[in-house]
Parts: sequence; structure tokens; C-alpha cells
Amino acid sequence: MERLRAEIGEENSELWLKPVEAMSLEDGVLLLKAPNKFFSDGIKERHQKRLLCLLREISGSDVGIDFHIERDLTRVLPPSDPVPEASPQSDFTLSDLNPRYTFETFVIGESNRLARAAAESIAKSPGTQYNPYVIYGGVGLGKTHLMHAIGNAMRRQHPKARVLYTTSEQFVNEYIGAVQNNGLETFRARYRCLDCLLIDDIQFLIAKERSEQEFFHTFNALFDSRKQIVVSSDRSPKELSPLEQRLVSRLEWGFMADIKAPDLETRIAILRKKAEIEQFSVPDDVILYVASSVKTNVRSLEGSLIRLKAFQSMTGSPLSIDEAREILKDTITADDSNPVRIETVQRIVALKYSVDVKDLKGHQRTASISLPRQVAMYLSCEMTEQSSTDIGRAFGGKDHSTVLHARKKIGKKVEEDPFFLELINKLKSDIRTAER
Ligand code: ADP
Ligand code: MG
Repeated sequence: MERLRAEIGEENSELWLKPVEAMSLEDGVLLLKAPNKFFSDGIKERHQKRLLCLLREISGSDVGIDFHIERDLTRVLPPSDPVPEASPQSDFTLSDLNPRYTFETFVIGESNRLARAAAESIAKSPGTQYNPYVIYGGVGLGKTHLMHAIGNAMRRQHPKARVLYTTSEQFVNEYIGAVQNNGLETFRARYRCLDCLLIDDIQFLIAKERSEQEFFHTFNALFDSRKQIVVSSDRSPKELSPLEQRLVSRLEWGFMADIKAPDLETRIAILRKKAEIEQFSVPDDVILYVASSVKTNVRSLEGSLIRLKAFQSMTGSPLSIDEAREILKDTITADDSNPVRIETVQRIVALKYSVDVKDLKGHQRTASISLPRQVAMYLSCEMTEQSSTDIGRAFGGKDHSTVLHARKKIGKKVEEDPFFLELINKLKSDIRTAER
């Protein structure tokens, strides 16, 4: 942690490392305790790679990382009787809500006005007008932010309300766990006593028949007792098929709002807001440059700002537009293209290694096939925004652990072998070109 802190800076480590605790080191796996999934995901996304390198350096052998999440649904629900004074520490473990995702930090623009207005009125009077509420739109446009904002505002305005935020992936996993451990009754009781269920990325339920059924029943139970349900999806309910028609039509009864990519004005406003939150003063021409170059989603806008900030804190002098251009040159060309699809990754990798896309999806284990397969899996992890489960599915129905294994293995090779890194970089640029 000390080594990593030196690299990522005080602020980042306060945010990401401080809440995390090392629990054990067994069988080459370091178990870290995180207050909730927000932290484990954040660390995975931002610092895992570096953390693994450092661990290897320090221990002299490969050490994996796993997270233990303090996640006990009973703790998510506030007790019905006098709420005990919560210490700040237990506040964290109380919920999966990210305290920074609020309405105050959400910038309004044409692209999200309706979605946000509905969200605010739901937080005020849940279970009335807009129920169920479906927010849909592309990646990185603020769906998750809005859902957390609803949850945070509801907790503030109705401290006794039982609000739960979860992703449909988590819902599926909990359901499977409950079935395996004879815990279905408890599982149902927990979900069905909620006042507000916020369930993110519903598209993940596709092709999970039993879980979908379970969700359908949870949905009905809550809906019948006039409890608020909020769902997000990366596509409109109509496009959610093959989700079961019954579920889709229930969703369509409610209120739907989509979030689109922000226009230039909104992008400028978002950058200003984020800079203000980060206490980072950015000259107007630099803001304008970033806002007009990074168009696809808000997450990349944010990423650009963070890179600029890191640079500025190193040099200590205000950024010039030329510096900004230089710093963001890779990000911006990459960002210009659409998000990458798994099919494209498969096609380009197959071409490079002269194998068939069919082979990548097959099960043959000869090195001439399994290397390109693992490379394609690795690149799918790095370049698409799909989960390892979805990637596994796109590779002929493989398990997500197979995908993670490939990612790890190839990742290691990339770090160790500069020629291989060169090859991977070439593949990346070919894939981006193919997507243009
Ligand atoms: P999604 O769930 O749609 O993929 P997120 O909610 O995770 O997107 O948003 C990605 C990032 O962009 C988050 O850090 C979020 O705070 C930020 N963001 C998105 N829209 C806005 C907005 N209108 N105002 C401020 N920040 C935003
Ligand atoms: Mg999201």
C-alpha cells in the first residue's frame, strides 16, 4: 500500500486504498476486505494491474487478489426501530451507494433533463407517479450516477425507507447462492420488504431464465404493494428481447427516459463541475479543447480531466493548451471511435494469427489456437466494455473464470515481453481502425 500510495498520490490513496484492509494471504491469493462493490470495482479498474506487479516484486512470486465484500443485506436495511447513531465508518458499510453520486453533482443538459427530473421526483415521492422507472442509454452517460442519486436523496428525505441498490449481475449471483444454500426464503423476504429497489444494468438478466423469473416475481410483489422500482438498461425495453415478454411489458407500463450523449455545452458544464469538485483550476481554452474532442461519453471526459490533473500536479504550473493536446493525444484518438465490439476483436485477432473465428469460439487446446483465443479474450477485456461473463459467452459459452485467466496470463506476457507488447499494440490499433 505504501508503495502504491507513493505512485498514485495522497488523494487517490485516501479514496481507494484507505477503506480497504488486507485480511489474509493464502494459496497465493491476497484477500482484501472492501466496504462495498463500488470500492472493489474501482480498485480493479484503476489500480489492480499495478498492485499485482508490486505484489510480485515484493513477494517474489505471483500473487492474485480477491475481494471480500462486507455485504450483508440485513445491514443495508435500516432497523425499523430507533435508528442508532451511525458512526461514519458504519455508514460506508451500510450501503452500496456512492456518496459522490448525487443530484447536486449531476449536471443537467438537454441529453438528460427528463431522466433527471423524473429521478428527482421519484426520490421525493417514491412509488407514486413514475413506477416502474426505466432509465436507458449508452455506456458512461450517467445511468448509474442517477440511480445512486435517487438512493442517496431518498435516504436523506426518508431516513426510514428501505432502499437497496444492486446490479442485476449481483441479483443473479445472490439468487444462485440462495438456491444452492437453501436460502431462497430469506432471499425473497429481503427483497420483497424493500421500499425502493434500484436495479442497475438489467440487460444482464438476458439468458438467465431462472433469475429472470425470480426478478419478475420480486418485481410484481413490490409493484403490487406500490413500492418503487427503478431499472437501468443499456438499451430500450423494446430492444431487451429475448427477455421475457411479460417482464418487458411490465417495464413498458411504467415511465421510461433515455439519456443521450451530452452536447458540447453540457460537456463543458460537466468538465467545469468535475474540475470544481476536484479543486482543479483548468483554463477555459483547455476545457473547450477537451469538451470538443471527447464526445462519446462522460466517463472518458472524466478520465481526460484526471490525466490533466495528474500532469498539472507534477509540474505545478497552469496547463497550456499544447500540453493538454500532448497529454491527451492517445486518449482522444482512441475516444473518437465507437466502443469496440467483441466480434471485431475476434475478427482482427483471427486474421492476424491466420485462424478461424470459429476456432476462437471452440474448445481446441493446441497452442496455435489457444494463444490467439487468449489474446482475443484479453483484448475483449481491455477494449470492450463487456463483463467477463458476456465475453465468455461470446467465445462459445465459456466460463468467466476462463476469460479472467486469459486476461491475467496475457497481461503478464505483455508486461514481460516488449515484443509481445508491440504486437498487442498493433492489434489494438488495427481493431480501432476496423471499428471506424
Ligand atoms: P453509466 O451507468 O450510464 O454507464 P455512469 O453513471 O457510471 O454511466 O457515469 C460515468 C461517469 O460519468 C460517472 O463518474 C458519472 O459521475 C459521470 N457522469 C455522467 N453523467 C454526468 C452528468 N450529467 N453530470 C456529472 N457527471 C456525470
Ligand atoms: Mg452503469
